[in-house]
Amino acid sequence: MGALFYRSALGYTQIVSKVRENLKRINIEGSVVYNEPMAKHTTFRVGGPAEVYIRPKNSADVAKVVQYCRSSQTPLFVLGGGANILVSDKGISGIVLAMESLHHISLSGTDLLVQAGAGVSEVSAFAAERGLGGFEFIYSMPGSFGGAVWMNARCYGSEVAEVLREVTYLDTEGNVAQMYPAREEFSYKDTPFMKNPWIILEGKISLTPADPNSLWKEMKEFETDRRTKGHFDAPCAGSVFKNNRDFGAPSGQIIDRLGLRGTTLGGAQISPIHGNIIINQGNARAQDIGDLIDFVQNQVHTQFGFHLEPEVIRVGDWT
Ligand SMILES: Cc1cc2nc3c(=O)[nH]c(=O)nc-3n(C[C@H](O)[C@H](O)[C@H](O)COP(=O)(O)OP(=O)(O)OC[C@H]3O[C@@H](n4cnc5c(N)ncnc54)[C@H](O)[C@@H]3O)c2cc1C
Repeated sequence: MGALFYRSALGYTQIVSKVRENLKRINIEGSVVYNEPMAKHTTFRVGGPAEVYIRPKNSADVAKVVQYCRSSQTPLFVLGGGANILVSDKGISGIVLAMESLHHISLSGTDLLVQAGAGVSEVSAFAAERGLGGFEFIYSMPGSFGGAVWMNARCYGSEVAEVLREVTYLDTEGNVAQMYPAREEFSYKDTPFMKNPWIILEGKISLTPADPNSLWKEMKEFETDRRTKGHFDAPCAGSVFKNNRDFGAPSGQIIDRLGLRGTTLGGAQISPIHGNIIINQGNARAQDIGDLIDFVQNQVHTQFGFHLEPEVIRVGDWT
């Protein structure tokens, strides 16, 4: 579940006209569009419209929108880079708050202060150019800094929590709060943010001096490795299922044992290169991808008795 706060019984036209009326009053500096296709904002390139799509310009805008949603009981979903979500063909009711404009990165000694909407690759590049190491592992992974903190993104043997020192977020009341993450609160794809509907505004990561050339060399190797694994060949959201160590093998290998690579369902396909990646062949509906995820999960359960836990989050109306 994402940062989806408030459920509403109102239909589309009612929400839109109510929001149109009220947004003038709350006066945000960012942009507001209606009926925005989410396929434009997700790496799967699928998903129906967001009823209201807001790009806040600053934290004050975010707070105003949260307070508005709270007082009007309007549903709210926070969007980072859209690299780990599957949005329903029916779209998302209420407001989607896209953090992309809050992307400032600044240096303080060997720490970086990073706004939630900054791309993780931009953060790695910013650090490498200044001779700071510790965040190179995530270079070329799609997604925003906020999304990576939200789920403690992990790759090449490292995870975000290893360098994360401080997070500024908005709580459910719309108040700004600070967290100094304790290592034990962050584990494999598990963080306090996944359990609480808070909005990450900014984080501080602590890095260490390193040679810029060596950092770039390593970063380019990660990028090449992802390219070789077909990560950028077709729209996808990276790994579909989490890796559960109790199963004795990565999810991709378990799926491979069933010979499922290349299986298609509508416009969705299990990548011919990697069993734990599902791709949009160009004409997939979100439903095709969702059904293929369910199919793999059922096959693995029937054959091996393991329940693979999806990593990709379904968002919007899946009824
Ligand atoms: C080709 C490819 C390769 C990938 N490889 C990896 C990998 O190696 N390792 C890995 O861990 N992941 C990987 N992923 C998945 C994805 O990149 C990560 O999960 C990433 O951290 C998602 O960030 P995002 O900004 O796109 O989040 P989104 O998909 O936009 O959102 C994901 C969740 O985070 C929440 N969220 C986002 N921003 C905020 C915020 N500011 N405040 C509160 N909640 C927020 C959303 O509400 C949602 O619930 C890959 C994806 C692709 C497409």
